[in-house]
Amino acid sequence: MNHFEYRDGALCAEDVPLDDIAAATGTPFYCYATATLERHYRVFADAFSGVPATVLYSLKSNANLAVVRTFARLGAGADVVSAGELHRAVAAGVPGRRIVFSGVGKSREEMAYALDAGILQFNVESLDEIEALDAVAVSQARRAQVALRINPDVDARTHEKITTGVRANKFGIARDLAGEAAARVAASSALELVGLAVHIGSQLTELAPFEAAFARLAALTRALRAEGHAIERLDLGGGLGIRYRDENPPLPDVYAEMVKRETAGLGCELLLEPGRMIVGNAGVLVTRVLYVKEASERRFVIVDAAMNDLLRPALYDAYHAIEPVREPAPGAAYAPVDVVGPVCETGDTFALDRPLPPVSPGDLLVFRSAGAYGAVMASTYNARPLVPEVLVNGDRFAVVRRRPDFDEMAALESLPDWLADAPARARGAA
Ligand SMILES: *Cc1c(COP(=O)(O)O)cnc(C)c1O
Repeated sequence: MNHFEYRDGALCAEDVPLDDIAAATGTPFYCYATATLERHYRVFADAFSGVPATVLYSLKSNANLAVVRTFARLGAGADVVSAGELHRAVAAGVPGRRIVFSGVGKSREEMAYALDAGILQFNVESLDEIEALDAVAVSQARRAQVALRINPDVDARTHEKITTGVRANKFGIARDLAGEAAARVAASSALELVGLAVHIGSQLTELAPFEAAFARLAALTRALRAEGHAIERLDLGGGLGIRYRDENPPLPDVYAEMVKRETAGLGCELLLEPGRMIVGNAGVLVTRVLYVKEASERRFVIVDAAMNDLLRPALYDAYHAIEPVREPAPGAAYAPVDVVGPVCETGDTFALDRPLPPVSPGDLLVFRSAGAYGAVMASTYNARPLVPEVLVNGDRFAVVRRRPDFDEMAALESLPDWLADAPARARGAA
């Protein structure tokens, strides 16, 4: 469930008409509903009550400080995949002791930064990474808790670009190398092996791949314990899917029951890293119709949002429901249109042959289910300003990332001295 509904013919985020926000901030913009963020977090966390489990919100799905802060206030930890995300988690008030650092390519600088922040654990993904972390921890005279991220070789049966747990993927340590990796960690005076981790992909809509992966993790836990390693924590990753169109992903309590079943009797503390499941349906992208263009066989609705603002359709052929902000009249005639952005790429297409009620220039539309992997993937391609983000809470709203102006966008650039005869404005002397 989410909190974007028509009231008196106008689509609202909680109690705020999206029209009002558009008038205040301009378009396009992302809008998140606090009530949905909090509800989804609580439903997920409550499903694990009764077992020792910590929910680590996965920042890469939506790293806006206000969003992370919303979860931090509910007690969430954080799963981060870069020093930049770690910085955000800390800035949003997540204690270091509740932060896990994942990712296949952590640099030594990032490791040092995370050791300084006193994070809970590093999920390491290769023997080389173990060597690097050992060296960094020794040089800082610090100790690091380590979990081995295992590649369970399970097909998540999701989109090929977001499946991460089959042998051919770059992620995790192969199961047959886990013993060697564990021994290497155990041999280090600076590293402490505390657990195992898996994350097999994103937008999973079936329980079975999770179940297979967790069963393999449980078996490996027993095998490594038999070799004398203390495996006390299992990090089960994220990946639970949401409904974009007609999917029926497992509900959190069904997922949690399966987790409890697969990990029963191990006595492990559980770490869970949901991202999309919590934020996906808590956000929409609001855009304005610029033009409606009739071509020989198609009708194009050209909107002011583009692939640089919401990349998922171009990257994954992802489906986002599209709805007008003004509620369609009863019996409105829906006709198929192509919804496209202004960017100079044919891939800048949000939907083909999508049935929409009649729309005119100036109308507002929303792309639904845009809270996850939306704003975080935005770029400034075509020198378009980074898309703003707005957080609603009841009848209030706040711009939680504002739109930069052109001078700010250019401020990181400078001209070398051999081009210094350029106009003053281009040299940044505003
Ligand atoms: C991306 C990622 C997550 C979150 O995945 P969702 O599908 O958004 O739940 C969790 N853990 C790791 C290691 C990830 O890379």
